[in-house]
Amino acid sequence: MAQTVQRVEDEYGLVLRRYLRALAREGRPQRMVPSPGHQIRTCPECGRRAAFSLEPEGIWFRCSACGHYA
Ligand SMILES: [Zn+2]
Repeated sequence: MAQTVQRVEDEYGLVLRRYLRALAREGRPQRMVPSPGHQIRTCPECGRRAAFSLEPEGIWFRCSACGHYA
């Protein structure tokens, strides 16, 4: 089974390297791509399109505009 895991990791690394190469060649994609732990969502509370950040617990996203959890 360890072999299977290693194989998956190899394939993942290959995809990642290919992606990074493409990124270097074509430049950065649109700026709206949020960083890990962040999502652009429409808040159900304040209705704004805002960046939601993942709480340290990793369960809730919090609206950066009003602090509502979603
Ligand atoms: Zn909000």
